[in-house]
Amino acid sequence: MAMRAFARDDDGNETDITEGVQALYDLVICSMDWGSGRLSYEDAVPVAQIGRLMGFDRIDEAEQYVAEQKHSDEQNEFWRAHKETQGWRWGEVPHNHVYSSAGKCMWGGCNAKQGEADAYSAEQQAALARARDAAVSRARQRVENRLFKS
Ligand SMILES: [Zn+2]
Repeated sequence: MAMRAFARDDDGNETDITEGVQALYDLVICSMDWGSGRLSYEDAVPVAQIGRLMGFDRIDEAEQYVAEQKHSDEQNEFWRAHKETQGWRWGEVPHNHVYSSAGKCMWGGCNAKQGEADAYSAEQQAALARARDAAVSRARQRVENRLFKS
């Protein structure tokens, strides 16, 4: 159900500001900054709160953006503390997923979501090890080929 927003003065007189609030919400949600990562988690939270409270359109999108910004903040924090988890030179390494409060693993390049399989199976680990070995040997060949040419 859509709600209405009112501004109340000291005498208790109320003015319906629903359209203005709707216009501001639409302005933010439709702006170039929205979804660009330029609006921080703190910037986005009140927008999503108003959207949810008022029953405005595109609230799912707004809440998704808030969750992603929160994940991104937490991931940056996590990377600062654990530099080895930022990315892998030779492909994905088996790891214990570490989830942000948005329920996504914070390891660089990992797309695991909370509630999915929580650990790497023996098969997955073997496949990752093979992929890593292949990447390492390709890189070694490139280096060797370069040495031959010069
Ligand atoms: Zn992970």
